Amino acid sequence: MVDLKGQYEGIKTEVNEAIAEILDSSAFINGPHVHAFQNELEEYLGVKHVIPCANGTDALQICMMGLGLQPGDEVITADFTFAATVEVIGLLQLTPVLVDVEPDTFNINVEAIEKAITPKTKAIVPVHLFGQCADMDGIMELAKKHDLYVIEDNAQAIGGSYFSKDGSKQKAGSIGHVGATSFFPSKNLGCYGDGGAIFTNDDDLAHTIRGIVNHGMYKRYYHDVVGVNSRLDSIQAAVLRAKLPKLDLYNQKRWEAAAKYSKAFKGQAHIVAPKISCGCDTEKSVCDCHVFHQYTLRITNGKRDELVQHLNDNNVPCGVYYPVPLHKQKAYADDRYNEDDFPVTNQLVNEVISLPMHTELDDEQIEYITNLVIDFVNK
Ligand SMILES: *Cc1c(COP(=O)(O)O)cnc(C)c1O
Repeated sequence: MVDLKGQYEGIKTEVNEAIAEILDSSAFINGPHVHAFQNELEEYLGVKHVIPCANGTDALQICMMGLGLQPGDEVITADFTFAATVEVIGLLQLTPVLVDVEPDTFNINVEAIEKAITPKTKAIVPVHLFGQCADMDGIMELAKKHDLYVIEDNAQAIGGSYFSKDGSKQKAGSIGHVGATSFFPSKNLGCYGDGGAIFTNDDDLAHTIRGIVNHGMYKRYYHDVVGVNSRLDSIQAAVLRAKLPKLDLYNQKRWEAAAKYSKAFKGQAHIVAPKISCGCDTEKSVCDCHVFHQYTLRITNGKRDELVQHLNDNNVPCGVYYPVPLHKQKAYADDRYNEDDFPVTNQLVNEVISLPMHTELDDEQIEYITNLVIDFVNK
């Protein structure tokens, strides 16, 4: 699904030298690379504060702690996403409220959010799934109207942008009150272990969060709040510093691969290519909104599972993200949920398939993959 080795070849000298220097200096924790990366990412995203932490799941949890959410507060998020989002809501004893998504973008449905708002609702967590922003205009409007926090789960869309109705353009993750991301190796900006970060333009929230990530300390050995231990280590920061200047180029390569896939699938009866909601079309050689963390098709003639098998038999990796709606997962099932509220997610879990998506895909590989898919689905 990804080719991390091919990408490493392009930054090998830089990464190896930086890691050797860290080994020599023994500044493994809170070394100068961590601080430098923080500043560089602030500049790249155009946000006032980046707070690095240990992984994307921690980042989400710390956002919710920083906002002071309390047990029993309801937090609305998408039914169709990776479980980390709902997991931290559960861990903090907040009440997850899962809602349906849109069939063409796979992102959270704004009308479904509005329907789910109660007097107990405190926050909305849109997930920018597969590299494309959720409808942030709609979400921010609802949040304003009902006085809710918006926490963007930007683990899959770093480097992507959102175009508002008013024509302004903002980086994914920098629009809500606070954003969280992951630097897991296979993400668009991945390190060589675990890593994550939180972004915000709110000075007070940033201050609160900087203490929470460090055992609730604002002054050494004085613990003002219950915190966690969540750090990005110096080696991971050095890897990220080598990759950040190339992130736009990496995302551009993903776009080129996605555009080639979509051209090949155009007009195919049972194959729905992913919609690009900002309006970029596959004839365009560049796109500045969708960063294609995954390239996800819908197979609408019931042959998805057989296609997975067929691709595996032909040594083409593929993935089903995600095979089970969160509201049907044992850990998150709840009598409150009504199946009629999740028609789209219930359908998507049977139709979606993600094809290899990374920075090193070449034309020959794409042609081989698209031919296999098209021939099989039409057989
Ligand atoms: C990867 C991911 C996370 C969690 O990130 P980790 O660094 O693996 O903890 C959270 N949300 C989404 C949508 C993700 O894709």
